[in-house]
Amino acid sequence: MKNAPINLLNFDREALEVLFVEMGEKKFRASQAMKWIYGEQILDINLFTNFSKSLRESLNESCVVEVPELLSEQVSKDGTIKWLLKVDAVNAVETVYIPEKNRGTLCVSSQVGCTLNCTFCATGAQGFNRHLTTAEIIAQVWVAANQLGHTLNERKITNVVMMGMGEPLANYNRVLPALNIMRDDFGFGFANRRVTVSTAGLVPYIDKLNQDADVSLAISLHAPYDDLRNQLVPLNKKYNIKTLLDSCKAFVKNKRKARITIEYTMIDGMNDKPEHAHALCQLLKQIPSKINLIPFNPFPGNQFKQSKPEAIERFKNICMKSGLITTVRKTRGDDIAAACGQLAGDFMDRTRRSSELKKLQLEVVA
Ligand code: SAH
Repeated sequence: MKNAPINLLNFDREALEVLFVEMGEKKFRASQAMKWIYGEQILDINLFTNFSKSLRESLNESCVVEVPELLSEQVSKDGTIKWLLKVDAVNAVETVYIPEKNRGTLCVSSQVGCTLNCTFCATGAQGFNRHLTTAEIIAQVWVAANQLGHTLNERKITNVVMMGMGEPLANYNRVLPALNIMRDDFGFGFANRRVTVSTAGLVPYIDKLNQDADVSLAISLHAPYDDLRNQLVPLNKKYNIKTLLDSCKAFVKNKRKARITIEYTMIDGMNDKPEHAHALCQLLKQIPSKINLIPFNPFPGNQFKQSKPEAIERFKNICMKSGLITTVRKTRGDDIAAACGQLAGDFMDRTRRSSELKKLQLEVVA
């Protein structure tokens, strides 16, 4: 039986170099191939014109350069774009582009579903199907770049955040090469600090990431006390707040001066009182950090409500007074279910899910 072809999108530069050396070629073929794939956005090996005909033929025998099929593109009234990509016969994932005045942020998925089951997240509610491959992760950037007309000179995407579906650090070995390609000059060439990994707190992998990749880190904290965080982020029972923040401290120390983003979803009556804000500031005293408050986004079947604007404002002011940079994340793309925590990709369920969501949003507005 013939082996399945190797998708070159699964390899970062180092791994591609090994591949070419094993083929009896020089290492620099790796950066040449990457320039074609990511720089020129060309997927046909026959068009790699600085490769000899025989090299192209032998590559074609065992390799492919493939991105998932684009199933749909939805554009929000605020300009946010959501793409649905078919990764296999039964699974699809979502990628979201959020244009702002001076930047364009791409929100990338790392898994189909998620294992962590945070009680306020639609992806968690959907269950876990499988990890994405490196190719499926980096292809989200490729497809977005291609759809947006992003080039190395005309950069529509300036930041990438691993805040789509899934827990990126639970899929570490496939996410890491994708992070490398994002930041490689022969890949997408994003600056280190503009590539952010967001985690619910998988401590051993935060420590590993600290060694392996110079990227920005965002922590989904959501609560200043363990008993409350246990309810919202069940992973806290394994790695509690102290363990998590110790690991954050080591991360910042190593990266010198880089601030960690603390994500805090604001849920009405749960975690949005002044006492929570004071306790949070106390916790963050030791860690160079900034707080990003995320108004909870509702989804079908979930009982939580978004905090009142006054509660968010009050919380923000307390944090600011204690000297922490605090921003409120604007809800973007909620009319196309593209906001934080609303991504649910699996296209088998698509119609039912989106109609349910519309119903719920109408209720919320009313
Ligand atoms: N697994 C990663 C990436 C998840 S999504 C992580 O936990 O960090 C990015 C952010 O959206 C996380 O902070 C997550 O907690 C938050 N989020 C999830 N569901 C949400 C919802 N319904 N409303 C607002 N934010 C939500």
